Amino acid sequence: MSVEVDKAEKKDNVLVATLDKVKQAVELAELSPEVYEHLKTPMRFLEVAIPVEMEDGTTRVYTGYRCQHNNVFGPYKGGLRYHPDVTTDSIKALSMWMTLKCSLVGVPFGGAKGAIVCDVQELTVKEKERMTRSYVRVLGSFIGPETDIPAPDVFTDAQVMAWIADEYSSNMREPSFGVVTGKPLAVGGCVGRNEATGRGVFFVAREAANAFDIPFDKARIAIQGFGNVGSNAAVLFAEAGCPVIAVSDVSGGIYNKDGLEIEKLIEHVKKTGFVKGFPGAQDIDNQELLAIDCDILIPAALENQLTGSNAGNVKAKIVVEGANGPTTPEADQILKDKKVLVVPDILANSGGVTVSYFEWVQNNYGFRWDLATVNRRLEEKMSEAFKMVYHYYCEKCVDSDMRTGAYMYSIKRLAEAMHYRGWLNDKNGQY
Ligand code: GLU
Repeated sequence: MSVEVDKAEKKDNVLVATLDKVKQAVELAELSPEVYEHLKTPMRFLEVAIPVEMEDGTTRVYTGYRCQHNNVFGPYKGGLRYHPDVTTDSIKALSMWMTLKCSLVGVPFGGAKGAIVCDVQELTVKEKERMTRSYVRVLGSFIGPETDIPAPDVFTDAQVMAWIADEYSSNMREPSFGVVTGKPLAVGGCVGRNEATGRGVFFVAREAANAFDIPFDKARIAIQGFGNVGSNAAVLFAEAGCPVIAVSDVSGGIYNKDGLEIEKLIEHVKKTGFVKGFPGAQDIDNQELLAIDCDILIPAALENQLTGSNAGNVKAKIVVEGANGPTTPEADQILKDKKVLVVPDILANSGGVTVSYFEWVQNNYGFRWDLATVNRRLEEKMSEAFKMVYHYYCEKCVDSDMRTGAYMYSIKRLAEAMHYRGWLNDKNGQY
């Protein structure tokens, strides 16, 4: 491998960037270097072969992963994604973000992430079901309600979670639905879980606008990605009166300076599959969306979207990271220099795992909360987390950004738990 390739790979490598950030946060928070030693490597990384019988009778073997990063707070927790581009490094980084996210928002879980390297569009529903069940069988007792609890992520949904719950329950020979969250309501799901990440993004954006003295009901919103997170957040922004002036998906973007009609747009996407061609809107591309003149920009698609080459064009005052890892370190620096507030992913998209926690609690004690209770508790958690992290960042992180503040805050809590569990050689009680 040439040095150039090596450098290029390193540059966009989310794991390298995350490790740098964790190390920096440990140092800035004056924590023991042992804390970094614990966090830098996942506690367990599983790579598995997943045999699937295809419709034509042949067997195809897919590669799957489950990365269990850290369980100092409780069972491992994190999504399962089906995507052709996942790498071992991206799964490791994603699992690390789950550890940081759970700690930050104060839910008693550790961090994990799983994936199957596949293109789901090429699979029939039956093949997808067989692949999911096969994955559960090969993982065996490495997952479980007290061990490791998967949830939906990119290209997985409530139906996939139901297959996991069913396969796991039949392996255990008893119903054990708490092994996953994000299930359909009929099999132990939680009301509001499907919309929770988007709802959390909305609450955090509102807090950030308040902190920046931007009148929220007039805040112009642009959203990259119109999947579960982006579309649910868009509905809430529109309901609150905020003009959602631009959205995009894989087909490209659409723009209307007076605000798009989100309910109609959702109907259009249901019919056509994409946002493109929505009547009354101007077509734009994804790069134009990121550079649109707006107050709050929400990257809610995949990793590495705001980079050194496009961050300079951002006109938003606030970036709220609905996706995991959408901003590269270079972009972070550029946005910081431009005085754009970046509300980091581990805070901004933690609404999903927060309501996953509510679901797990309800499964454990066999009682259901109503939607008003779920949404109220989510709002309390998200607003409190934003205020605490923002306050901490303003106070402690004099020359740094909110991501650094969030990492410091989260890792301090992890270090405290490591200290009490006896994982650190902190003889003087210093950690
Ligand atoms: N996949 C979501 C995330 O990245 C949710 C994880 C969960 O609920 O466990 O935060």
